[in-house]
Amino acid sequence: MLTAFALLPLMLVVWEARRELSLDHRLSGIASEIAGRPVNVDCPGFLRGLVDISGNGGSVMFDANGKPSNTTRLETSVCHDLSDYGTTRKRADFACVFGTTPCSDRVERAVYAALVLSHESQHLRGVRDESTAQCYAIQTLSLVATRLGSPPDEARAVAAHFLAVDQPRVSTDYTLSSGCVDGGSLDLDTQSSGWPTG
Ligand SMILES: [Zn+2]
Repeated sequence: MLTAFALLPLMLVVWEARRELSLDHRLSGIASEIAGRPVNVDCPGFLRGLVDISGNGGSVMFDANGKPSNTTRLETSVCHDLSDYGTTRKRADFACVFGTTPCSDRVERAVYAALVLSHESQHLRGVRDESTAQCYAIQTLSLVATRLGSPPDEARAVAAHFLAVDQPRVSTDYTLSSGCVDGGSLDLDTQSSGWPTG
């Protein structure tokens, strides 16, 4: 009996550690694709998660020369919502992303978490300015959504939904500049007439 009591917490710790590692690995692959170089996504472990109280969704450090670090640290809640994205998108209420009115809290959190991963990936790509990173992040949001399990049309809808519903509510640091339009100076694909995707 004593052994079983001692083993159970240990098994839980190992199981939790494996789960976190596989999530980090999956998210690192998505971030690397956007950053154009091998980078890491670090989700807080269970213990660090208990004291994680920052409020920006994630962060990337830049050195004195303006070079980004190789790792982004995401908040516990964002990691949790990214981990749940696959199940959230299968719910009937996820179809709400095809519209331009606010969705359920769970759906909005899934959309926001995907945006945060996209945004931090832009920092890892070397974009330091918040407004510029946000503009690029919205354009690469459909790619992130695809990698998290959304079919292409749904992924494009997620990006359009964020731009229409959530972007107007972000803090002023992340406000989009006048170049952040189709064909503008921050358009990542000027050949395409799609916006914000393509
Ligand atoms: Zn940022």
